Amino acid sequence: TKFTDLGLDKALLKALSDEGYEKPTPIQAQAIPGVMAGKDLLGIAQTGTGKTAAFALPILHRLAADRKAAPRRGCRVLVLSPTRELATQIAESFKAYGKHMGVSVAIIFGGVKYGGQMRAMAPGVDVLVATPGRLLDHLQEKTITLQGVEMFVLDEADQMLDMGFIVPIRQIVKHLPRLRQNLFFSATMPGEIEKLAGELLRPNPTKVS
Ligand code: AMP
Repeated sequence: TKFTDLGLDKALLKALSDEGYEKPTPIQAQAIPGVMAGKDLLGIAQTGTGKTAAFALPILHRLAADRKAAPRRGCRVLVLSPTRELATQIAESFKAYGKHMGVSVAIIFGGVKYGGQMRAMAPGVDVLVATPGRLLDHLQEKTITLQGVEMFVLDEADQMLDMGFIVPIRQIVKHLPRLRQNLFFSATMPGEIEKLAGELLRPNPTKVS
């Protein structure tokens, strides 16, 4: 498979050639068509397999195909990540792949002052990458709304469990619209993670591993 065979938007193909990517990794080839078509995704994948592009590319394709203003103090895509380092990498990937389509990306994580992150969010953004604890603070303070979320990505679910984030995640999910696309990634599938995936995903998700 080549990236051109997948039918991705031209602006994305240009960014991929700028990045020097020649062809999709196996997980990308498996994941991209279903996510582009609006299906949910269950991915068993470790870091290093190209999983970030496996979700970022089809999500950006869907944003390019349906351009509209982001909701004020909200976002169209929410990505939850367990650590600020991973959240930063994911945000950088969205910016790199989306650079020819004018996508706005913001990041929210704990351990820093609220002001700068809030100013970046205020007008509304296409993509928000967040760690669960700080995002939940904002939801409780009503400084961020998730009512405009169309696509939701939960990355590294098993690491979220190890870090005690399952309760905050369930609380965050209560703020999401019921009608949405869900992408769920985990390196392993212990029982508790399988249960969470079953709660979050619509029936018959695309499965990749
Ligand atoms: P990830 O598993 O998402 O952390 O990605 C691992 C690394 O592979 C990152 O540095 C990506 O930039 C790179 N990468 C992802 N997809 C491709 C691809 N199709 N071709 C070449 N490099 C890639």
